[in-house]
Amino acid sequence: MSFQPGSDTFDVLSSDQKIARLERALMRERRARLDAESIAERGLRESYLARSRLELLNRIATVANDSNDPIATLRLAAEEICLVTGWAIGHVLIRAGDVGDVRLEGTDIWFAHDPDLMFPFADASNRLVAWPCASPPGRLFINPHPIWTPDIHALPGFTRSDLALRSQLRAGVAAPVLMGQELVAAIEFFATDTLAPDPELLELLVQVGTQAGRVFKRQHHARRLLESATRDPLTGLPNRTLFEARLAELFEALSNKEKTSLSLIYIDLDGFKLVNDTMGHQAGDQLLVAMASRLRDVVKKIEGHFPEAEIMLARMGGDEFTVLVSSAANVVVAELLAEKIHVRLHPVHRVNDNDLRASASVGIAHMDETYTSPEVLMRDADVAMYEAKYQGKLGIGPRTVSFDATMRAEALTRLELQSALRQAIEQRAFELHYQPIVQLNERNIVGFEALLRWPQPNGDYTAPDIFIPVAEECGLIVPLGTWVFREACRTAARWSAETGGDRIFFISVNVAPNQFQQPNFIDLVRDILMETGAHPRTIAIELTESAAVINPIRTAHMLEELRAMGVRVSLDDFGTGYSSLAHLQVMPFDALKIDGSFVMNQDETNTNWTIVKAMTSMADAMDLRVVAEGIETEFQRSRLQEIGCKFGQGWLFDRALPEADALALLKSVNIAGDMSSEPQIQPQVHKGLGATNGSNSGVSS
Ligand code: C2E
Ligand code: MG
Ligand code: MG
Repeated sequence: MSFQPGSDTFDVLSSDQKIARLERALMRERRARLDAESIAERGLRESYLARSRLELLNRIATVANDSNDPIATLRLAAEEICLVTGWAIGHVLIRAGDVGDVRLEGTDIWFAHDPDLMFPFADASNRLVAWPCASPPGRLFINPHPIWTPDIHALPGFTRSDLALRSQLRAGVAAPVLMGQELVAAIEFFATDTLAPDPELLELLVQVGTQAGRVFKRQHHARRLLESATRDPLTGLPNRTLFEARLAELFEALSNKEKTSLSLIYIDLDGFKLVNDTMGHQAGDQLLVAMASRLRDVVKKIEGHFPEAEIMLARMGGDEFTVLVSSAANVVVAELLAEKIHVRLHPVHRVNDNDLRASASVGIAHMDETYTSPEVLMRDADVAMYEAKYQGKLGIGPRTVSFDATMRAEALTRLELQSALRQAIEQRAFELHYQPIVQLNERNIVGFEALLRWPQPNGDYTAPDIFIPVAEECGLIVPLGTWVFREACRTAARWSAETGGDRIFFISVNVAPNQFQQPNFIDLVRDILMETGAHPRTIAIELTESAAVINPIRTAHMLEELRAMGVRVSLDDFGTGYSSLAHLQVMPFDALKIDGSFVMNQDETNTNWTIVKAMTSMADAMDLRVVAEGIETEFQRSRLQEIGCKFGQGWLFDRALPEADALALLKSVNIAGDMSSEPQIQPQVHKGLGATNGSNSGVSS
């Protein structure tokens, strides 16, 4: 029953009772009003909180949308979340380490309302390392959801507990930052009260983690993009762009005096193009990857010996690599690197069932105060590398050359020679001369070697030893060699016709390695034979060992094909190259030409025929005919004959003769022999023209 003022029951009560009742009613009313007010206020506060959290998320999302810097995004998040929620401190951790050693590492990114009070705790957090484990934040690796701890002091294994107590911290929450499924960072907050989980705050932290994760992803892509722009995709080595940028950076950073601490090494693989052309690009790529890894090994080893040195290995493109050395001992380091590179590249590499042996030409340039730009250093190392390559082609000198100023002039001369050669090829300004090859006993002519001559306006000839290496280096040897082969075939056909076919002879044509390794070489030989009408038996090909060993199996096949056509093949300059019996055994050569250097210098007072003897008996055992080159004296001829060498060529018999003279000579001997069949009749013996009249086909260099 209720008593309301003004009701009948109210009127019969005493005044005291009435007052007491009124007071109770008033109190109830006040309480109800207060309740209503508090409900309204809480709603307001909650809606305010919800709005400010939404705005916070918006701000973070805006930054995340524009930024490539996840750290800046996380710094903002730590600060904003503390400001909006009133939590005492926010702190960022970043993932480090690879699989097996993955961990979160504390950073110095933190925000606190009272930095002085929080500093000891923040400092400890900065040094924190959290491996995947049961307690936060390491637990985020195992379970990537925010972890709420109402009171961190109640949490077993919370290592920062003491410092947290000093900073009066109680509740904690750790939230993951995920890039896809991967934990890339964490963000943790601590409050000064014990607090029960707040689902809305937890949801907010999930959202913030997602936003920051997007920035990590973007940064990851940007890095990958940058990496692909500065890395060589095949070998993973820095590319030209990165290498040149680092060189420029060092050049800028160093004082003039310090610049002497820089060296640049230019490395170019020898014969790589041939591997590419003959075995395909995939094999070429395989070889490049293998060589890059060997170069890397060398660099790593040297870095171990010279820890202060900065060494950068890069791939410039194709088969060219460079090494930048920045060290107080740069000269020693660079030269040691070059030496070790040759050794490390040497062992055979197996590609598609072929044993490939790579070698390299190496040029080094050391910087000094005179250098005005890093590009000049690059160019000089390149020039030195070309010099090394050139010397290698001549078969002389080391495969490492250090730059000196005279080389610049030589490089220029070679460039000029290249352009003159190009012009001469276009204008067909070459001649072929023919040097007789004779039987050593009776001096009967069995054939001729076609030798290239480049006439000059002054009547001299530029020696092939000068221009052939340059032509090989710039690839002009292919068109030039094709011209030689066609010209020799034409001559052979003409001579056969002129002599009515009753002379047995052959013309031996030098074929350069590059030319022989052309994919269509065999077809070209066949076509030119058809086109010129030369009988294949009148043509022989001379190959050097270096051409033969590049790809021994393929070479063996090609030799078979040539022989099946009727064309013979000689191994030229024997003794100057690899002289590998193992290789020779699988290659069906017809003849072996002992290099002139083993013969020319022998005289009565200085004789050493040991090598020639060994080569001759080896050739005999393999049923190869032997031709000795460079016979200049009767003494040499007779000794060679005694040794068992049956054929030879040299100035004793004749120099290389212009075509008309060579034909006249051929006509003047009634019947010559053939290297494969001993001549039956030898009515006229060739006495030699060059020895008496001084041939006009000598060359000058
Ligand atoms: P090669 O094929 O070994 O040719 C023999 C060289 O020895 C020739 O030099 C020849 O003139 C020289 N010679 C011959 N007899 C004597 C002698 O008694 N004493 C001395 N001192 N030298 C003698 P040449 O014509 O200067 O050619 C040099 C090299 O150039 C050749 O060596 C060959 O490798 C290359 N060559 C010449 N013509 C061609 C060509 O058409 N194509 C290619 N790829 N290379 C060629
Ligand atoms: Mg030759
Ligand atoms: Mg030779």
